[in-house]
Amino acid sequence: MSNDHAHSHESGHDHEHHHHLRESETYYAARTKALESLFREKGLIGTDTVDRIIHFFEHEMGPFNGARVVAKAWTDPAFKARLMEDANSGIAELGLRDGIEGENLRVVENTASVHNIVCCTLCSCWPWPLLGLPPYWFKDPVFRARVVREPRAVLSDFGVTLPAGKRVEIWDSSAQVRYFVIPERPAGTDGWTEEKLAALVSTESMQGLALVSA
Ligand code: FE
Repeated sequence: MSNDHAHSHESGHDHEHHHHLRESETYYAARTKALESLFREKGLIGTDTVDRIIHFFEHEMGPFNGARVVAKAWTDPAFKARLMEDANSGIAELGLRDGIEGENLRVVENTASVHNIVCCTLCSCWPWPLLGLPPYWFKDPVFRARVVREPRAVLSDFGVTLPAGKRVEIWDSSAQVRYFVIPERPAGTDGWTEEKLAALVSTESMQGLALVSA
């Protein structure tokens, strides 16, 4: 895996950095549309190729997979134990595939005493089969540098304040191991179906950057 983009942020101004990111998004959106049109004109892709790829990430490989795993773990302690022992076998029980970028998944659990956060300090290793497309902030060099140095400040940026006594653990995903968080189950959800529970679970919560509330 290349790490040529794993440089530290140069200006030191978060505001400028995020402004720059938004401009980049507009640029890349326009560039992507232009390339798609060109590829179609040249016959390199079919008229439905892009739609099929979008369908794949909307319906087959997305955070709804991870959310199913979390809801099952919340409602079935024996499943959770198996999942934490061997995450790849656990997700296979739900009929989910692991495959590329998810060959070696590991699950960590948030509890009353510990809060886990997943990052990739080197680049942007991400558990694709469980979470689909990574959000832009996960690749942000500022996020990657800050989350290991001042995780509570980063959590605060995401709107999360933890009790002072709670331990924070950071897990650095890599090409070898991709981490995944089971967030704490929110109070007031006793007796809820797995489907209803899964709907509460966000991508951010499965990386430890958000809490789940009912
Ligand atoms: Fe990486």
